[in-house]
Amino acid sequence: MNNVQNRRKGPFLGIIKRMGPLHDFQTDDPRLQPICDKVLAGERLNVDDALTLYRSGDILAVGWMANAVRERMHGDKTYFNVNRHINPTNVCVAACRLCAFGRKKDAPGAYTMALEEAFETAASGYSEAVTEFHIVGGLHPDLPFQYFLDLCSGLKQRFPQVHLKAFTMVEVAYLSRRAKLSIRETLEQLKASGVDSLPGGGAEIFADRVRHIICDHKIDGDQWLETAKLAHQIGLKSNATMLYGHVENDEDRVDHLLKLRALQDETGGFQTFIPLAFHPDNTPLQHLPKTTGMLDIKQIGVSRLVLDNFPHIKSYWQMMTAKIAQISLRFGADDMDGTVIEEKIYHDAGATTPQGMRREELERLIRAAGRVPIERDTLYRPVTRTDRGVSAAGSFSFSVALRSPSAGVRHRVPQKQIDPRLVTAPVPLQPIEDVSVQSNRNGFLWRAVELANLRPAPVQDEGDIRKINVLVFHGGDGGDVSSLLLV
Ligand code: SF4
Repeated sequence: MNNVQNRRKGPFLGIIKRMGPLHDFQTDDPRLQPICDKVLAGERLNVDDALTLYRSGDILAVGWMANAVRERMHGDKTYFNVNRHINPTNVCVAACRLCAFGRKKDAPGAYTMALEEAFETAASGYSEAVTEFHIVGGLHPDLPFQYFLDLCSGLKQRFPQVHLKAFTMVEVAYLSRRAKLSIRETLEQLKASGVDSLPGGGAEIFADRVRHIICDHKIDGDQWLETAKLAHQIGLKSNATMLYGHVENDEDRVDHLLKLRALQDETGGFQTFIPLAFHPDNTPLQHLPKTTGMLDIKQIGVSRLVLDNFPHIKSYWQMMTAKIAQISLRFGADDMDGTVIEEKIYHDAGATTPQGMRREELERLIRAAGRVPIERDTLYRPVTRTDRGVSAAGSFSFSVALRSPSAGVRHRVPQKQIDPRLVTAPVPLQPIEDVSVQSNRNGFLWRAVELANLRPAPVQDEGDIRKINVLVFHGGDGGDVSSLLLV
């Protein structure tokens, strides 16, 4: 059956399925029909196809194709994670015109965290739910390479179960110069100190013409790609970004995407592509207008269609707003980033989104888009936080006697509210046979409720919950308790 229809020739079919597209492909732009044929046949799109997608006004048709690919790869699954951003310094020698974050060493607002301060920052936003530290910062002219090695090894020592996604390709290249090491040696030492993967920042736009305008002091596009390649070769996964919505044109964007796709063919080391909308406020480019919702959505769709070898496309809600990010889940995106604690870089550039989002809100947005929220770790392994998830690992439940009457307890959690769709990977288990909540009864219960993302229900009879069942599981090898679920 030819499921390509020209909207002018055929009626709206309105084929409603429980999952998948709501209707067959329709378009007012005949140039998109051969592209759709290729997409449905699983054929790779070329430069001309990519340019046509950018230049077509039929955003719904572009979205239909991107959504078809997204659902072919991930169904309704939509990923998010619980992470904490750590920006050890905003001191930077580069002075990129795109940037509102970096400062000269003596400029007002410049800061550099002492190691202990960085550890305290990590701890202050930390809960057992955090699975990732996202660590990026400026190119500091004085901090020695050892500082960064000590930062990573110190974080690993204190938070062994947390994944360290640290240092952009730009930072790695700069550290290699400072340390007088090759890029490979620099990456190897960072890996040995605890770095688990690399974020995707600093790619901006690879085209020299644009790079000279927006960031002419940092490594060029080829060096960024070479650094990523070396990281992948030593077993470090990474993400990739593209900063759009400033002075680049369609050809520059296509060039960027195709270079990433070519490297991914070679290494397979990219996990996620993240299109980043340019925020001009407080930058030397603040005369430029902000991106529009149409461009944000289009960028997600084109990325999904062109980057056929990237597993994931992320709509970074901090940059494109939660509402646009939510809509993009129907235009090719399968990841909404995370509950992010204390994002700084884009907020310095005028982002008006909150600096973090509660887990419940993120899941609500995903569900309202008709998708299924899946909490993931950095490597896209599902994270287990439900009784079913624990059961999948061969779990057990047992009674825990509260040592004190539950007079201060106001809520309990009915078992039926636990979402079974998050059944996921095994986690090591360890029982706790006696939990005292005497000193912090309410805190204990609310904390458990929050971690489990369950809605508390009013207690009918407080005497009923002097004994509760508790499932306890660990997030790492003998690590601290990562979640307590009341059932
Ligand atoms: S974008 Fe990065 S490298 Fe450029 S000035 Fe800002 S912090 Fe420095």
